[in-house]
Amino acid sequence: MVSFALFEQCRHAMTTTKQRPASTKKEPSTRAKRTSRKGPPPLNAQEVLGALEGEYAPFPWEARYDATSEVVFTILSQHTSDRNSERAFARLMERFETFEELAAGDVQVIEECISIGGLAKIKAPRIKQVLNLIIERCGNLDLSFLREMPLDDAKKWLKELPGVGPKTAGIILCFSLGMPAMAVDTHIERVVKRLGLVGPKTTVEKAQDMLEEMVEDHQVYPLHVALITHGRQVCKAPRPLCPRCVLEERCPSRPGFEKQEALRVKKREAAVAAKKKAEAKVKAAASKKKLQASGSRARSVPAGRGQTGQGQTEQGREES
Ligand code: SF4
Repeated sequence: MVSFALFEQCRHAMTTTKQRPASTKKEPSTRAKRTSRKGPPPLNAQEVLGALEGEYAPFPWEARYDATSEVVFTILSQHTSDRNSERAFARLMERFETFEELAAGDVQVIEECISIGGLAKIKAPRIKQVLNLIIERCGNLDLSFLREMPLDDAKKWLKELPGVGPKTAGIILCFSLGMPAMAVDTHIERVVKRLGLVGPKTTVEKAQDMLEEMVEDHQVYPLHVALITHGRQVCKAPRPLCPRCVLEERCPSRPGFEKQEALRVKKREAAVAAKKKAEAKVKAAASKKKLQASGSRARSVPAGRGQTGQGQTEQGREES
């Protein structure tokens, strides 16, 4: 039986170390694609990790969730915020004591529990389906046997489950089972493409395989955390903070972003100048109008008099 309590305990914990099982993978490749003929060569994965470790380490490892929790949570987190999926998962845990109960649960009840996470009508039957499929294939809901499989086979096994893609498989294997699997999310994909570690058109699945090959097994998890942290804090989308980046000297994307930034500054300055000019024009027009108004008032009053139009007429009559 897989307890929901374990999920809660591990939900935000990524702070202690744990031994990883050995892998049979070949020697890591440290080659990175050169994206420009000018300037220093781009960093390889080992160098990137070394530099980022200096900024963000340590990256201690601990099982985040048990593998089954991770599968359920992943389904809940599709097309919604972390907050909502966490709430939906918490409600599910309150209602069902074990995943076995959840697997046997009523779809409508599951749907009600997870409604806060959105797309409950799709996610509820999906969760039930996946759990029952695991029971059908394994006889229970314990996925720890994957740890004993070769990495590629374990990935394949997981990806055969509905709703489990390469990223989810990577997360389950790396975070739940301590295997040297890379999970490439949107932050990591952006950073490794900007750094030229993988090509701009490389798929997430291919990038995962490539990154796994670039470092030692024990470096896969630190590389994942280092890249994701860097992507969130410095190499942001759409505007990376290159001047604050520890990798900037050898990042092939930096010159392009610097040009964009210079252009933005130029445009901002031009906009400010144009605004000032327009304001000055309006001001000048207003004072011209004011001058004209006072000029015409002065012309309509005969010099030395100050009498009304009627007074002038009467006086004129007397004089005649
Ligand atoms: S230099 Fe800029 S683009 Fe390159 S990794 Fe650093 S923040 Fe990202």
